Amino acid sequence: MKKLVCVILSLILCMSCACATATEANIPEVKWEHPLPLMEVQSDYTMLVNADHLLDKSFKPDPQVKVTGIKRATSAAVYMEKTAAEALKKMFAAAALVTEYNYVGADGKTKLAQYGEDGMVLYLKSGYRSYGTQATVYANYLDRNNGVDDGYVAKPGSSEHQSGLCADVLNADYAGRPTMTQDFKWTPEAQWMKENCAEFGFILRYTEEAEETTGIKFEPWHFRYVGESVAAYIMAKEITLEEYTEEINAALADYEERGGDSEEQIAYEFRKMNKPPETFVLDEYGEDGDAEVSLVF
Ligand SMILES: [Zn+2]
Repeated sequence: MKKLVCVILSLILCMSCACATATEANIPEVKWEHPLPLMEVQSDYTMLVNADHLLDKSFKPDPQVKVTGIKRATSAAVYMEKTAAEALKKMFAAAALVTEYNYVGADGKTKLAQYGEDGMVLYLKSGYRSYGTQATVYANYLDRNNGVDDGYVAKPGSSEHQSGLCADVLNADYAGRPTMTQDFKWTPEAQWMKENCAEFGFILRYTEEAEETTGIKFEPWHFRYVGESVAAYIMAKEITLEEYTEEINAALADYEERGGDSEEQIAYEFRKMNKPPETFVLDEYGEDGDAEVSLVF
């Protein structure tokens, strides 16, 4: 009986909805070829900041929020761009649900980390840093390092920290140390973040393999917010934000050359987003215990 009702319902819906032919008619003539939606790649969250792409002295994240409600590895207040801060808090909350985690120790052996009721605890070390602060950090570092710029500290304007879109995150042990060191990578927290950060829209920005491309030494604690789709793409392809930007710029140039219309494409992507799902389960389990009926629009 239920099945009959559903079949009738599906016929009514099919007659009343905008069917496939109508949707197809609205597909832009010039196809956007890149697997990521155009609206995602044009997002401000993917902005590239490095020695060749400097932020203006006056640049500040907007909106900017004070990051509260999570553990910090500093007594100073930490600020970040609002969406990035919210995403970071979600990552911390997900870590708190981890009770066991397999990781590779410095000896190359797989180990099991076990946590108490607080789960895996992460510590936020730093977020937004102003141009002026970065200038001081840079000058102090050069003083300590005999005037040598070895790539550990970004020049003012070239630090992602000024964007407010990144965070340095440590575990309890490293949070208590005066300096951050690369052996943090052997901790379960660093490995869990690398494995899971994309789910929250973050990428591990300065990887061990990409020091030449990024111009920055490996930082297992530095996570940059780019949005979930872009993060998943970058982490799965194991590319840098520099390589991603180059790829997108090439795709955009090609699209423009073929006469693509960005506005039309983005409108199309929004329509696709708002479209009802292709199928959905009307009634999860029927009397016979099987998934009942899916309606196709
Ligand atoms: Zn950092």
